[in-house]
Amino acid sequence: MEIRIELTKTPKEKPVPGQKLGFGRLFSDHMFIMNYKTGKGWYDPRIVPYGDLSLSPAALCLHYGQTVFEGMKAYYGEKGDILLFRPDENFSRLNSSNRRLAIPQIDEELCIRGVKELVEIDKDWVPREDGASLYIRPFIISTDPVLGVHPGDEYLFIIITSPSGAYYESGLEPVKIYVESKYVRAVRGGTGMAKTGGNYAASLLAQDEAHQQNYSQVLWLDGVEQKYIEEVGAMNVFFVLDGEVVTPELHGSILPGITRKSSIQLLKDWGLKVSERRITIEELDRANDQGRVLEAFGTGTAAVISPIGELKWGEKQMVFNGGKIGSLTQRLYDTLTGIQYGRLPDPHGWSVTVCKG
Ligand SMILES: *Cc1c(COP(=O)(O)O)cnc(C)c1O
Repeated sequence: MEIRIELTKTPKEKPVPGQKLGFGRLFSDHMFIMNYKTGKGWYDPRIVPYGDLSLSPAALCLHYGQTVFEGMKAYYGEKGDILLFRPDENFSRLNSSNRRLAIPQIDEELCIRGVKELVEIDKDWVPREDGASLYIRPFIISTDPVLGVHPGDEYLFIIITSPSGAYYESGLEPVKIYVESKYVRAVRGGTGMAKTGGNYAASLLAQDEAHQQNYSQVLWLDGVEQKYIEEVGAMNVFFVLDGEVVTPELHGSILPGITRKSSIQLLKDWGLKVSERRITIEELDRANDQGRVLEAFGTGTAAVISPIGELKWGEKQMVFNGGKIGSLTQRLYDTLTGIQYGRLPDPHGWSVTVCKG
């Protein structure tokens, strides 16, 4: 399918070097859009000026949350190239979210082409500061103007991009996380493995309550017994025990992170034993009391690797590695960001070049 291109006649001011970008607040000049109608399939892929959508107030997505999304980044590389990190993984996960939300499958190859063309057209929006990137947000919404509860017959697939600042402004900093034991995020058979809006809506109250107690995020336990560790708000979690690196196994209620998958690969490359298995918060606490938890960290596109300095579980405060960044955590961060920005060799071919700078 041909991607139609309509360039803006009124380009916006681009951020100036040194300007504070924050996250997801500025948007580039263009966006990718494609429509779907039952019987017709996906049609009219196009890159057009960034702008508001026109939707019926009855649009399905607004009422019943039939939405999915992805999150990825474009990086300004060492040699002036613009790079993506494993975009094929994002679109294959989008299709797996689609399956769960009864949204039609998209053509992954077309999406990769779309994101590459969009980023190339808006390449001047890719920030060049250390650690900054162009955040890319593909998403799908159902748009049928019908209030009956049913899977949509009409959809929009859209990609918008947002120049965003470095997650850590002054180097990696350990975060303090609240172990949630009142609310749950997901259960097996639910939508936990899909990147869909409802999961985040359901997590906001817990996040807000954790913030009020000065914890930056929530660690979710399993939705049935609230015993097993699942994941943090938008990050998967890893614990370095003596002798093995443990991360909760994927069994349907955890989001299968691409940073998680990449981290497991690197840890195995380095000869470490990685166990994807169930781990209870009690087991972690006991191991930590015995001094056997050497490091803890989260993985996700936004922060890449986020050292966890402390977990608050009921009255218990678990501090890892004296609240400091562990050496394996630092090595993973340096290696992943090194590959993403084209500074290090890329033995698995994860980095995809969009264009020369
Ligand atoms: C996006 C997300 C992650 C991290 O996935 P990456 O592909 O590594 O960015 C983890 N957990 C949740 C709930 C997420 O939404």
